[in-house]
Amino acid sequence: MTSLTLFDTMARRKRDFEPTDPGRVTMYVCGPTVYSYAHIGNARPAVVFDTLFRVLRRLYGADQVIYARNITDVDDKIIETARESGKPIEDITTHYADIYRADMGALGVTLPTIEPHATDHIPEMIGMVQNLVYGGHAYEADGHVLFDVASYEKYGRLSNRDLDDMIAGARVEVASYKRNPADFVLWKPAKDDEPGWESPWGRGRPGWHLECSAMSEKHLGKTIDIHGGGTDLVFPHHENEIAQSVCAHKGAPMANYWLHNGFLTMGTDKMSKSLGNVQLVHELIKDHPGEVLRYALLTAHYRAPLTWTADLLAKTRRSLDRVYGVLRRLGDVEATPGDVPAAFLEALHDDLNTPKALSELFQLAGNANKAVSDVEKARAKGELLAAASLLGLGQSDPDAWFGLTDLDPAERAKIDDLIIRRQTAREGKDWATADAVRDELNALKVQVDDGPEGSTWRKLD
Ligand code: AMP
Ligand code: ZN
Repeated sequence: MTSLTLFDTMARRKRDFEPTDPGRVTMYVCGPTVYSYAHIGNARPAVVFDTLFRVLRRLYGADQVIYARNITDVDDKIIETARESGKPIEDITTHYADIYRADMGALGVTLPTIEPHATDHIPEMIGMVQNLVYGGHAYEADGHVLFDVASYEKYGRLSNRDLDDMIAGARVEVASYKRNPADFVLWKPAKDDEPGWESPWGRGRPGWHLECSAMSEKHLGKTIDIHGGGTDLVFPHHENEIAQSVCAHKGAPMANYWLHNGFLTMGTDKMSKSLGNVQLVHELIKDHPGEVLRYALLTAHYRAPLTWTADLLAKTRRSLDRVYGVLRRLGDVEATPGDVPAAFLEALHDDLNTPKALSELFQLAGNANKAVSDVEKARAKGELLAAASLLGLGQSDPDAWFGLTDLDPAERAKIDDLIIRRQTAREGKDWATADAVRDELNALKVQVDDGPEGSTWRKLD
């Protein structure tokens, strides 16, 4: 069996993955701030780390992998949204957290083992700040508690930058009460009309970075195996999480592997709310099966940028049509529960090379299509399903995929017959017959689309 290698941002190279305890593999991924809908760029880390979660569960056992993805439910943007809408904060955060779960569920994202909410961990956060103050790593100034970056010699190691770069790059907020411009907020005062909790420093609320350090420790431990998120989180978020956790835990590393996904882009720009170029998952799933969106997200290697286009979705749909076409043809065959084929697994084990894995999946679909004997068919179908499920794909009912679920068998058989007749006509370049058959299909409410990679069809409601 091939071993799993992962690119570790801290080491800046691929490393063999070795969990501290194979009986309890731990992964923490920074989750959403719940004040609005998630866009498809936000879905990229959810899908990437869900795929890794599936790979880890296969390797170590379903109950041996503990995956925590937090919900940030206290934040400036949430407070602002609540204020603008006149609704209580909890209404906003519950509403958007529910939508987030449903939207990601539509993309086949398994629920993480734990979904800790920041507001349920305020005592742990206060405890960590106290610990940092006692240890000389944090100081109180102007009602805030700040982390003293000069007190942590390795600050900047993850993002590979020194303090001068950070200040020159103006990535840090300069404030008169800071000893060093790169010092960041652990705890800040809350205004009377803002959510706040009593603390040794007065009524206040936590800084964002602190939330993840406290929740990761509480649920997974002081040193975890994998910590993940988008590449924009490397600095300052993860750099600051590391500084807090390492200094609060007497030098113990926060995570042994740091993983970061690349950006989903529109043209050359990162998809982001501030640029106004977002496509919401909530809207996309009205027009596309969630599986098409998931597949499209997996077409690029997770560390590479991924350009989001209508063409990508159309191509992806055709690819999945092919997989489901094969599964439909083998509908009556009972799949042999099989192991995931080696070449496919090797691709995923190579730092989650999903583009390679998808091309292997196509090979498996081709094999299943060509299988002749019943034994061959059963085995090929089993391998195809096992591989697809590791990517979170291929588990829908093939008839449902093509919109055929509610049809009576005679109508279904008629559609199948017409599809085959049209295909034969096209192969023989008999365009007149192909067009005539398409008209017949359209009359049965079957939409046919001819593309460069072949034709696709589906029954409209
Ligand atoms: P945010 O709501 O901006 O804090 O993002 C939530 C998560 O989505 C973080 O892990 C980000 O790194 C990630 N993310 C945001 N925008 C993109 C994007 N365009 N492409 C990939 N990941 C993104
Ligand atoms: Zn975080």
